[in-house]
Amino acid sequence: MDTVLELRQVTQVYVNDSRATLAVEDLSFAVKRGEFISLVGPSGCGKTTVLSMLAGLLKPTRGEVIVGGERVLSPSPRIGYMLQQDYLFPWRTILDNVLIGLELSGRKTEQSIAFTRSLLHELGLGAFEKRMPHELSGGMRQRAALVRTLAMEPDVLLLDEPFSALDMAIKLQLEDLVQATLRKRGKTAVLVTHDLAEAAAMSDRIIVLARNPGRYFSSFRIPEAMSSALPTEARRMSGFQPIFDRIWEALEISGGKEA
Ligand code: ADP
Ligand code: MG
Repeated sequence: MDTVLELRQVTQVYVNDSRATLAVEDLSFAVKRGEFISLVGPSGCGKTTVLSMLAGLLKPTRGEVIVGGERVLSPSPRIGYMLQQDYLFPWRTILDNVLIGLELSGRKTEQSIAFTRSLLHELGLGAFEKRMPHELSGGMRQRAALVRTLAMEPDVLLLDEPFSALDMAIKLQLEDLVQATLRKRGKTAVLVTHDLAEAAAMSDRIIVLARNPGRYFSSFRIPEAMSSALPTEARRMSGFQPIFDRIWEALEISGGKEA
């Protein structure tokens, strides 16, 4: 199996002044090359913690995180991270914003600039290179954030609720655009979302986590016909609602245990 990314019995404990929080306990899963998975679960079940560990920003208290056959010990250019907020620098043009990763890592060359500009073009921002972030809509800014991430040519993309601040129509458009862009390039993706329909429409597989402590609860494989379609098309398929209902039920049980 061509595994790109793996969590092996990972536990994360946050220790603050007076107390320890068991954020994630004994979590294992593997993601294949080109696979798109979603992590869903109640607030506080450790989704962001898992992404931080995958990104090498947080060292697991116990267990191992493996990306591309190697243990993740620090942030790596193989892994791109996209968040709900776009974090574009307001004083830089869109082009200068999307080049920042290349600039900081000493990889800004004529070639990488040309590649980045082709990405801007592909994501409909070709005419906005010289604009400032405040001149763009929320959806356009998120597209710029995606270009900034893809410019580094990561193998794996981590997406933490990247669409949740957007209007419904823009969100649906972006789901299609992001999925098509990642699939075309064979990228492996881990999406965190609280929107189950989004998870069902975008993913090959969904992992449901439970909380207190954050742990594996169940997982669902999305039928090929649905996962290979664009998210907006998948949402219209007859099999969509039954799958949505099953995941919803799992989520209710996983979250309900806490009360
Ligand atoms: P999610 O993204 O699923 O909402 P998080 O990964 O943010 O969950 O948090 C998981 C658990 O860890 C929660 O109980 C949260 O309060 C706790 N937690 C997250 N970050 C920290 C931190 N830096 N220090 C202490 N506890 C934290
Ligand atoms: Mg979170």
